[in-house]
Amino acid sequence: MARTVGVDVGGTKMLAVTVEDVGEVVGERRVPTPRGATALIDALVAVVDAQRAECAVDAVGVGAAGLVDRAGVLHIGPNLPGIRDLAIKVLLEERLELPVQVDNDATCAAWGERELGAAKGRDDVVVVTLGTGIGGGLVLDGHLYRGANGFAAEIGHMKVAPEGIQCPCGGRGCWERYASGSALGRFGREAAEGGRARRVVELAGGDFLDVRGEHVGAAAREGDPEAIEIMNRFAWWVAQGCGNLADIFDPDTIVIGGGMLESVDLFLDRTREIFPDLVLAGPERPAVEIVPATLGERAGAIGAALVARDLLRAG
Ligand SMILES: [Zn+2]
Repeated sequence: MARTVGVDVGGTKMLAVTVEDVGEVVGERRVPTPRGATALIDALVAVVDAQRAECAVDAVGVGAAGLVDRAGVLHIGPNLPGIRDLAIKVLLEERLELPVQVDNDATCAAWGERELGAAKGRDDVVVVTLGTGIGGGLVLDGHLYRGANGFAAEIGHMKVAPEGIQCPCGGRGCWERYASGSALGRFGREAAEGGRARRVVELAGGDFLDVRGEHVGAAAREGDPEAIEIMNRFAWWVAQGCGNLADIFDPDTIVIGGGMLESVDLFLDRTREIFPDLVLAGPERPAVEIVPATLGERAGAIGAALVARDLLRAG
């Protein structure tokens, strides 16, 4: 039986899991993500070796936040400052003497959810990770879709608002400025600045500038009508982007993951309700299931391990 290690490289920590090819996770460890390219490669080698010390491993998958090309080079990682054009696949294969596959972290998470999570057995899946920003992954016709360069599914940067809010990517009106956890916080601050959302401000400690998405969520959970209104606005923006994605890809399932998952009960019903109005022939076409992710923060690491397993199967 093949065993593979998957490592999800985040801005602050790395999560490594060992997965048996039937899909069982047999080992797991977390280590901090160091600064700098050399230290990052050393840390990746060390964490894989630690997994290997527990049981033999046949291949390694790495999911990294950023633009990863099909040769396994991380071009730009917004959460990994100072790292550019890092040939992770080549460097790791040299050091580990194992086959290595490197992909975008959300691409890996999508494969994890499709193989073992919320979209198990589904062939046309869009995975949307709502966190500080928005990431995405696509499964089309049963295959993970990477695009010509490996840069597919940067869905957070599809433009949804002309002349919209400035995005750190340099563009304007990107979806992640409207439907991420940070966007929810901004909606809360805007309401508070206009003299509304008092309970949200109270929960943030009294200063409206300290309002974040979690304060809006907490107030909405208490039943505060103004916070619920903000959540409903957020739900609309989530639905709008999902509607665009459904118009393009015609998925059977849209999986919602990422940090906003903990507030999913506060917006998902509303998103589902609005969604048909934002898709072509929405009320007439077969329903698209919009479901919460089930692999949680391990989706990226598990998916990376499964991508490595597929690399072995492909020979
Ligand atoms: Zn952007």
